[in-house]
Amino acid sequence: MSTTLNDFLMAKLVGSPASARPLRPGVFVDLDGTLIEPLPADLADPNPVRFMPGAGAAIARLREAGLAVVIVTNQSGIARGYFSRAQFARLQDVLERRLQEEFGVQIEDVAVCPHSPDARGRPACLCRKPAPGMLTRAARAHGLDLARSWMIGDTLDDVEAGHRAGARSVLLDSGGETEWRLSPLREPDGRFNAWEPLVDQLLTAVSPLPSPDPLRAASPAQMLDEPDRTTGVGSALSVRLRPSLFASSIPSAL
Ligand SMILES: [Zn+2]
Repeated sequence: MSTTLNDFLMAKLVGSPASARPLRPGVFVDLDGTLIEPLPADLADPNPVRFMPGAGAAIARLREAGLAVVIVTNQSGIARGYFSRAQFARLQDVLERRLQEEFGVQIEDVAVCPHSPDARGRPACLCRKPAPGMLTRAARAHGLDLARSWMIGDTLDDVEAGHRAGARSVLLDSGGETEWRLSPLREPDGRFNAWEPLVDQLLTAVSPLPSPDPLRAASPAQMLDEPDRTTGVGSALSVRLRPSLFASSIPSAL
């Protein structure tokens, strides 16, 4: 559903613009190597949508927990001329239909950066991850609270984009990251090699009750290192992921 139509329908439903609605937590999900297997460079495959193991069921659980789901994907193949925006739009239609039909999942939006990086591989626009533009724009469009939201991706560029947007970031290590160029912004708040334990752990950290978040002003590095100061009942995200605990194994409780 387009942003404009969605905003129009929501305005009809609640009688107020998107900016006046209470903000919701959301999950930003990378596409290639995270939600689906990496796409072929030219989109020549007539059926290019192959979900990563457990991905569809995982997205369904996130939706059931009340999290809005937005897909955020770099597709520089459009700028490079490997495939057209229309071809990608058709793939997007297939993706949304299959999520609906096979997993009963309706996603909020698909945000696409069609631009190339610069000659040194850095974003030349505001939207190509690790820049946060797709996340911040989607958050504004859909009334999402970035401080209570998460980025899930298979590369440290995804992790960095989430942190730059003010969200938390977890890495689904499916082999997409090969350079491991670390910095404080690229340090994941959790690292997993499968969807199911990732969602198990993420949902333990999510409270459905909105409340003032004292962590909002904290930097990602502070989130990782500081002891949890929030213990109030119903406090959103009062339990945070501690990467050192589950880099290799998943504890039953934090
Ligand atoms: Zn871009």
